Amino acid sequence: MISPASLPDAWGRFGPYGGKFAPEVLMPALEELESFYAQIKDDPAFKAELDGLLKDFVGRPSPLYFAERLTEYCGGAKIYLKREDLNHTGAHKINNAIGQVLIARRMGKKRIIAETGAGQHGVATATAAARFGMECVIYMGSVDMARQAPNVFRMRLLGATVVSVESGSKTLKDAINEAIRDWVTRIGDTHYVFGSALGPHPYPMIVRDFQKVIGEETERQMLEKEGRLPDHLVACVGGGSNAIGLFYNFLDKPSVKMVGVEAGGEGIASGRHAARFEGGVLGILQGARSYVLQTAQGQIAETHSVSAGLDYASIGPEHAYYRDAKRIEYTYATDDEALDGFHKLCRLEGIIPALESAHAVAHVLKLAPKLGKDQLMVVNLSGRGDKDMQTVMDAAPYMGQHGSAQ
Ligand SMILES: *Cc1c(COP(=O)(O)O)cnc(C)c1O
Repeated sequence: MISPASLPDAWGRFGPYGGKFAPEVLMPALEELESFYAQIKDDPAFKAELDGLLKDFVGRPSPLYFAERLTEYCGGAKIYLKREDLNHTGAHKINNAIGQVLIARRMGKKRIIAETGAGQHGVATATAAARFGMECVIYMGSVDMARQAPNVFRMRLLGATVVSVESGSKTLKDAINEAIRDWVTRIGDTHYVFGSALGPHPYPMIVRDFQKVIGEETERQMLEKEGRLPDHLVACVGGGSNAIGLFYNFLDKPSVKMVGVEAGGEGIASGRHAARFEGGVLGILQGARSYVLQTAQGQIAETHSVSAGLDYASIGPEHAYYRDAKRIEYTYATDDEALDGFHKLCRLEGIIPALESAHAVAHVLKLAPKLGKDQLMVVNLSGRGDKDMQTVMDAAPYMGQHGSAQ
């Protein structure tokens, strides 16, 4: 029997996964956050403030949209899109960033730090910090800064300091290391806003709690539109926050099937991917035990995905738990499949999705045609594709010239 509310346990574990593997100097900060969060999470004043911001600043509830032409094209299940792409700043990440900045304020912290890979979490955090006039420092690998220059500019417009990280592979995991180093020296006045359902306890739990609004809204909206629960949920999985956000509310409803879609990159055999459940083994990365892509020597493997937001070597511990429990199924979509899903959604629905979300769409293109027309499916459209124009242009340069993929 699945009882989602009982997890994580007192040690922050989801079965054998998760936990709090952090340097001694960080333990007081993690414990302070954990006990403060336990105090305020059900506080009506905190909830009212958060709900007000989600409504008027973020734009929630996000619509549950019937994708009529995508449904017709697939010829099977009736497909709905949960429109997180319509949130302020263009993705689900703002739900968590706003929540954590509110906590930081109430804890009396003056300074916000965060890591970012593609820049989406950095932009969401800089946005939330600006909204409350808090100092904000974002750590970003120099390789990512070059790839995501518009997001670096956005963060600076919002008043954040963007620090270029030159260590290691100069990407996300190195940025996380650097942010942790900063936090160690400024624990007294600084809150570290973690961007996904990853990291040491209590982060996977807090991030999940701020994202579960996605599934709660979906249930209400589906009951309104169809009078019953959905049969299938599909979401892409980077660290796992948009997926657990959609799934969490349905975990104890056995009729609802769920699929998480990882980044298959150039294919599993190529070794150039970020599908942790395909090639990963149990390990500890950045504070939590979960599946990790590693080399034979136990070093963190280089990962690859066309979408920067899915390009990470580990996966949220709660996902590993529900995979073992066979409650959530996991699969992957390759770069090419994601790009195909991207173009299909543009043409069929007039919606340009984030390349991350396009991995979920790619799986829908495989799954929906096999299902009966009476089946209801919800796809989490975690973000919009504005940020991905350059990547898509590089992958399909002919499109801009002729205005047609064909
Ligand atoms: C960051 C990001 C993701 C991946 O992160 P999760 O924590 O797995 O949700 C997915 N989609 C978009 C649009 C993102 O920005």
